Amino acid sequence: MKIALLGRGGKVGSVLAPAFEAAGHVLVELDGADAMVDFTAPDAVLANVRRALAARVPSVVGTTGWNPEDVEREATDAGVAVFHAPNFALGAVLMMRFAGEASQRLPRAEIVELHADTKRDAPSGTAKATAARMAGAVPIHSVRLPGLVAHQEVIFGGPGETLTIRHDTTSREAFIPGVLLALDKLDTLPPGVTVGLEALL
Ligand code: NAP
Repeated sequence: MKIALLGRGGKVGSVLAPAFEAAGHVLVELDGADAMVDFTAPDAVLANVRRALAARVPSVVGTTGWNPEDVEREATDAGVAVFHAPNFALGAVLMMRFAGEASQRLPRAEIVELHADTKRDAPSGTAKATAARMAGAVPIHSVRLPGLVAHQEVIFGGPGETLTIRHDTTSREAFIPGVLLALDKLDTLPPGVTVGLEALL
């Protein structure tokens, strides 16, 4: 597949580029690409997706801190798929699923998400997606420190007990299988926006 990788020099992009080539994909510019992959920044992603839509190139977007609904109409009208996952790590998808299930029995919960201090948006897209699956308004606490990659705890509290569901991304390699899966499934997705790795599993 010919892939336009935006954010190639970034922390995630620099891990994805060799992984794409190892999987047999070829890195190209947007014109002539089969797919656009965006791991850039919240203030850049919307324009990048719109450029891909104008070129009729489907997108796989990992960048967080934007609202994919903003391009729903444009993507549907263009007949082009836009796939966004706030977290491409399989363990994080399971964490969100388990948190949603626990929330039905233990309604008092708070989320603590911890990321590298270079992450520009807060709260994280994963924390917001987790909270959206849980009952009630779930407070989210954001920690930004050097040395962290991407971590999240969902802490449930009830009379005499707590339950903690924790996911740690210790290396950005964690995102590779999910992004490759999204590229693999991209031509099976309907026009418009699809959100969440679960939609592909
Ligand atoms: P990063 O290290 O800051 O890298 C971002 C890269 O994007 C940089 O190379 C930057 O180039 C480039 N860039 C910025 N604006 C651009 C534009 N308009 N067009 C093309 N490239 C542009 O960030 P990161 O840690 O790799 O993360 C990137 C994004 O992915 C963030 O939003 C992060 O939250 C998200 N993320 C998502 C997942 C997931 O699983 N969904 C996982 C990890 C990270 P310059 O340095 O030259 O500006």
